[in-house]
Amino acid sequence: MSKILGLHHITAIAGDAQRNYDFYTKVLGFRLVKKTVNFDDPNTYHFYFGDEVGSPGTILTFFPWANVRQGKNGAGMATEIGYSVPKGSLDFWKARLEKLKVPHNAPGERFGEKHMAFQDPDGLWLNLIEAEQRDDRKGRVTAEISADVAIKGFHTVTLTLTSIKATADILTGIFGYRQIAQEGHVYRYRTDAVEGAALVDLLEKPEALRGVTAGGTNHHVAFRVKDEETLMAFRERVASRGLSITGKIDRDYFFSLYFREPGGVLFEIATDNPGFATDETMEELGSSLQLPDQHEPMRDRIEKALPALQT
Ligand code: ZN
Repeated sequence: MSKILGLHHITAIAGDAQRNYDFYTKVLGFRLVKKTVNFDDPNTYHFYFGDEVGSPGTILTFFPWANVRQGKNGAGMATEIGYSVPKGSLDFWKARLEKLKVPHNAPGERFGEKHMAFQDPDGLWLNLIEAEQRDDRKGRVTAEISADVAIKGFHTVTLTLTSIKATADILTGIFGYRQIAQEGHVYRYRTDAVEGAALVDLLEKPEALRGVTAGGTNHHVAFRVKDEETLMAFRERVASRGLSITGKIDRDYFFSLYFREPGGVLFEIATDNPGFATDETMEELGSSLQLPDQHEPMRDRIEKALPALQT
């Protein structure tokens, strides 16, 4: 039985590459698991931040464009990324964000879970959530972040929509999610296929203006499947709804399909195979610039065009 295995990765847009790297590795403690370029624009980095081994469901990726214009959250986009943190860890995170002068909201409660929302240096909205559902994933430990507080990976992603109906229909009718709760205008969907990164929250805001995809906003949300056979089975299911969907695209670390769901959010479906340890060993992940074969002959020129990165 082929299933969507929760979230695979989320991709967002940043400004300054160094500032982006510093925030996700030093403040939040993620590992840069792959440093490559935007395959369609090789003079721009593509960073992948995740847990120690680059597990699907932990991966947040960025295209950092210096001087990018500021985007704006709105309808038809993913407007908040929720990370799962251990019970009792929010006090640590609140103190840490304050010490490092990261703006954050007051801790609150949603769906019976304690959470604290904050913004990255580009204004991207993130949320740390003390998940009620069992989540045995191990967060990445650093000198400043111990195992009892380390971020485990994605908990949920919030999509803002003027109407949730058509998007909910994709989640339940094709992806195997079911609605498990509603709080105000937020409808929570879950897949039972995985333990973590299993939730999607749909925020219905009929009056919302269309979002502007640029700096500090999310570009797309990728759902996870086991392999290419499953990927292509989902391609059939999406296409059978009359939605237009790309063919299979080789992203070097996974195979992908893209389609815009009817609510306006760009969805991707991505495979577990082959993973990040293809052009580097597990120990080396993220340590040097990796280029896809088609750009390797231009390595010198690309390396000169990319901003220097202190790691
Ligand atoms: Zn993607």
